[in-house]
Amino acid sequence: MNGEWVKSNSREIIEVINPATENPCACVPGGNREDVNAAVASARQAFNSWAHTSSEKRAAIMNAVADEMQHRTDDLVDAHVITMGCPRHLTAGLHIDAPIKAMRFYADRARQMEEVEEKGSVLLLKEPIGVCALINPWNYPLHQLIGKVAPALAAGCTIITKPSGQTPLQDFIMAEIFAAVGLPPGVFNLVSGSGSVIGPNMSSHPDVDMISFTGSTYAGIKVAAAAAPTVKRVCQELGGKSPYIITKDADLKAAVRYGVEDVMLNTGQTCNALTRMLVPRSRYEEAVNIARKIAEENIVGDPNDKSVTMGPLASASQKQIVLKYIKTGIAEGARIVTGGIDMPPGLHFGAYVQPTIFADVSSEMVISREEIFGPVLCMIVYDDIEAAIEMANDTVYGLSSGVYAKDKTSAIKIARQIRAGQCYIQGSYFNLEAPFGGYKQSGNGREWGDHAMHEYIETKAIIA
Ligand code: NAD
Repeated sequence: MNGEWVKSNSREIIEVINPATENPCACVPGGNREDVNAAVASARQAFNSWAHTSSEKRAAIMNAVADEMQHRTDDLVDAHVITMGCPRHLTAGLHIDAPIKAMRFYADRARQMEEVEEKGSVLLLKEPIGVCALINPWNYPLHQLIGKVAPALAAGCTIITKPSGQTPLQDFIMAEIFAAVGLPPGVFNLVSGSGSVIGPNMSSHPDVDMISFTGSTYAGIKVAAAAAPTVKRVCQELGGKSPYIITKDADLKAAVRYGVEDVMLNTGQTCNALTRMLVPRSRYEEAVNIARKIAEENIVGDPNDKSVTMGPLASASQKQIVLKYIKTGIAEGARIVTGGIDMPPGLHFGAYVQPTIFADVSSEMVISREEIFGPVLCMIVYDDIEAAIEMANDTVYGLSSGVYAKDKTSAIKIARQIRAGQCYIQGSYFNLEAPFGGYKQSGNGREWGDHAMHEYIETKAIIA
């Protein structure tokens, strides 16, 4: 905080366990309320000056940050490999490259802050919202951090951030990067610690103007409730159980491959994963067979082995959650097509699970309603497209969705009827320009694209 490493006021230590080896790999302070207060005070003190720094200067610093991130790629990769078990050879592509691009993307958006809109005798100005508290989960830790930090910096906000206890290291590296490129002291402040201990301090702090939270719907509700008495802005990026409709005239092989790969990515720990695959009855068994073959192509194992395509889950506790859901699915009568509760072949320790596919899943089953957050796909049969759309929307969530149809035009027709913040059609991928966020219990607000800037901006109307 305030541009310096300071000792925590707490003596708590959080030990991070490498999920592949089950050995400790890092220790960080478990901060407390005093640490949060000091970090907020530091951010508050830095705010005026940073908010009034020219957007050109802010953009130059952000581009220097991107250069330094590029330079520190190996360290950032290492942080992901040891704390969350991502296969090393896949980590830069999956976790590092997009955040570097994003830092440059938002550096470019800093200029928007100086745009003045005139509507008759009304002048509309954009101003930074103030001190922002950022709380992130462990599944894409750098991506999520930069998704908040970059637009906040571009807007002229100052920051206090808390990483997940499982994946704190990239935040520490970023603190070094910010210092190395000369970000003014106090603009970026980091407090590590347990969410249930310091999360409420951050959410309820009267000197925090906005809180952006990514994580479970359960904790997101707590954040909003704690934030309410101080009427701060709350941005919530929460869970999902996203549907994926394949139509009967789609290229089935391509459609199923895309869906299975999407769910297995990052060992299934992706909030917008298309975990409910809806397939027409006439092509269902064919799709199930294709899906099995694709899931079985995965090589699960040591993140340092170049042939491995899937590492462990990020923690032993996440593994227990996923295994519990697989057992629930079996008990509910879903058919295991591949995978299950045994360790993947050849592995004897670590938070590994097998890529698992369930067929004959119905909409009422727990495995089709609750977020599993592991490499588990549910395949559901439908009779007509109206029924498929109804099942797709039959969820408390609305983060993402997918459609694979005969062509783009037919896919868009279906996409328009799904209640979710995003729809990936014809096998498309994450796009920095696309606003990302949920309908219903998947959240409030948007990250990425130009929309992310809105979260960190106040609008001032000057009326002549
Ligand atoms: P989590 O909710 O347990 O934790 C997320 C963060 O919140 C952590 O930093 C944690 O320490 C903190 N936290 C916990 N309790 C808190 C409280 N009372 N107040 C404030 N902070 C608190 O989630 P997780 O297990 O780390 O991550 C997985 C979840 O995140 C999944 O549900 C996934 O869908 C969701 N997620 C959503 C998005 C999105 O953009 N919508 C992206 C990634 C992950």
